[in-house]
Amino acid sequence: MKLAARTGRIVPSPTLSITATAKAMAAQGIDIIDFASGEPDFDTPDSVKVAAEAAIRAGFTKYTASSGIDELRQAIVEKLEAEQGLCYEKSQILVSCGAKHTLYNLAEALFEAGDEVIIPSPFWVSYQDQVLLNDATPVLLETREADGYAISRPMLEARVTSRTKAIIINSPCNPTGAIYDRAILQDIAEVALRRDFVIISDEIYEKILYDGVRHISIATLGPEVAARTVVVNGVSKAYAMTGWRIGYAAGPKELITAMANIQSQSTSNPSSISQKAAVAALRGGDAFTRQMVVEFDRRRRLMVERLNKIPGVSCRMPAGAFYAFPNVAGVFGRRHVQGPIASAADLAAYLLKEARVAVVPGEPFGSPSHIRLSYATSMDSVTRGLDRMQAALGTLR
Ligand code: PMP
Ligand code: GLU
Repeated sequence: MKLAARTGRIVPSPTLSITATAKAMAAQGIDIIDFASGEPDFDTPDSVKVAAEAAIRAGFTKYTASSGIDELRQAIVEKLEAEQGLCYEKSQILVSCGAKHTLYNLAEALFEAGDEVIIPSPFWVSYQDQVLLNDATPVLLETREADGYAISRPMLEARVTSRTKAIIINSPCNPTGAIYDRAILQDIAEVALRRDFVIISDEIYEKILYDGVRHISIATLGPEVAARTVVVNGVSKAYAMTGWRIGYAAGPKELITAMANIQSQSTSNPSSISQKAAVAALRGGDAFTRQMVVEFDRRRRLMVERLNKIPGVSCRMPAGAFYAFPNVAGVFGRRHVQGPIASAADLAAYLLKEARVAVVPGEPFGSPSHIRLSYATSMDSVTRGLDRMQAALGTLR
């Protein structure tokens, strides 16, 4: 069978496939510590489950408006206004099956052959493949660990061409945990305005921030910036709702309408029940999220402290999200009985086999010197997993 050429340009999501391997090993009774899964280990809040049950009982189980129910779009409008001071009409909001689907609709509506899309690197695994699936060219903007993964204006300007269609930013960032301060956002906004490209701002980790830092959405930098920005968000991370599949976009009406048309011809509405659940999540206040973040913070500190004690490993303190992203280049070249560890992928494979610890290697995030560990798992798992990693790395020659 001759498949479409675009299928040959991409790989399966590595984060999802490593997580699936870890889960399959656990299902076989193998005592695996899973640092691969990119999802909160907390249960969805009860108030959200109650709303979903009520929706089922009330027979709210049919198709809804393809772009999402009015009530949810209104709740999103109010959230953006109350928390960021951003003003959107309901027609500027599209609800999709997770932020990943939102980003995909956006890529389909915006990108075509010849377009270049700037992606600061390290980057979340799906950005590059979504650009490739839509015939455009990803242009990586490499940032440095030593600079806290910051972007400077000259670095950005060096990547912009007449073909630049958009930049995809992600603050707080998966995998680095870095955040963009106001000065960086201002630089990005000014370059986007001057060189006329779209800003895609993936804010899915906006509420998972530590040390009293507050989230800044680039869309708040002025009406002319908001007019070329699409804010992407969802309920997966903040409300421990990854399985419910609700994400959304807020942006310029013309673009949102194009995305909505694509959705109406592809998936139709996201689950009616999940939409009611998302209304309850967005209207339910932030106490749940705050509590979860307090717990993530304890694990973050423990994980980073333990990683930094392992010879050959160094780890920055992430400012947001729930991932540690240690540099493991100091381990490369060391050997175990089966052979040398020459890359992050080798190290991840070794840790899975010898320590029964699942981590995601840095290569698919554009960062071959790093591995990603999620601390959205219990303190006990963090302790046991780090014990095992330390022991396994200690046996390398
Ligand atoms: N963006 C980033 C940076 C993510 O880590 C994720 C997690 N999968 C998503 C978007 C998509 O989240 P979801 O589809 O669950 O809303
Ligand atoms: N965002 C999570 C991660 O990076 C979930 C998996 C995925 O959708 O890629 O692990």
